[in-house]
Amino acid sequence: MSDEMKITFLGTSSAPPMIERRQSSIAIRYRGHLLIVDVGEGTQIEMLKNKISLRKMTILLTHLHADHTLGLIGLLTTRNFFNIKTPVTIIGPTWTSQFLSLLFLAYRFKPEFEVTVLETTGDVVLNNKDFFIESFPVTHSIESIGYKIETHPKKERFNPDKAQALNIPQGKLWKQLQEGTPIEIKGKEITPDAVMDKIDSKNLKVVITGDTEFDENVIINSKHADLLIHDATYPPEEKERATKYKHSTVLDAALVAKKAKVKKLALTHISQLHSDLEHSLSEAKKIFSNSIIAYDGLTIKLKIKD
Ligand SMILES: [Zn+2]
Ligand SMILES: [Zn+2]
Repeated sequence: MSDEMKITFLGTSSAPPMIERRQSSIAIRYRGHLLIVDVGEGTQIEMLKNKISLRKMTILLTHLHADHTLGLIGLLTTRNFFNIKTPVTIIGPTWTSQFLSLLFLAYRFKPEFEVTVLETTGDVVLNNKDFFIESFPVTHSIESIGYKIETHPKKERFNPDKAQALNIPQGKLWKQLQEGTPIEIKGKEITPDAVMDKIDSKNLKVVITGDTEFDENVIINSKHADLLIHDATYPPEEKERATKYKHSTVLDAALVAKKAKVKKLALTHISQLHSDLEHSLSEAKKIFSNSIIAYDGLTIKLKIKD
């Protein structure tokens, strides 16, 4: 299974959508898992365009503003329509559970699949064999959280030389050992550790802020992240407006990236006030050079380096 993580931007506008940008949503695919971070209006269409299925998924909500949740009921309804039975986990801030109950009541919607809701105000919210997710509070006009998604570092790697030295024929038996299953050759058991090298692999770390103004807590949580996806609602000149509405300018985001020493910064939640995106980006790059402005359909691929 590939160790590549694919991060696809499904919506990159601020609250009012634009012709070329839909409301907030990001899909993360890693080792067969699908995470959808926020579900703005139009998310389903972008999922179709990017060939992302409605299979088993975990939905992460940064906050309950309409531009981050309008697509949710539609997406769940389509799952019912296509009779998809795989479960969905929905993670969000306090009140997510009540919010969903009201939404389901208003639309007379009964999911025909299992829905698990987890409310979080911080700390580890999900942990499986491939990665873990932590949430942390950010500063916005309503209760909002950011998410930190980190893969577990690999501890060992298959060494074909060792397998050959033990006269294990290449093919099915190699695969079994790679998957951690002991094998038997001529009555002798061989355990996976006999063909594995101990390694100290790096992990991947992606941080998504959702809507936030400049916040020291984001710096603490995104230290050395491979990718920071940060609110960049406003152009450099609109600091006053950013403070008033509790969003960030591109400069706020770049400063966070610089202070956290992240590897790459993707600016998103882009408002129409960016009259010249080239200018916004070049100003951000003066503070943090590896900055990009995300756009709908952009996929960033991250790979673990041993
Ligand atoms: Zn928003
Ligand atoms: Zn918001």
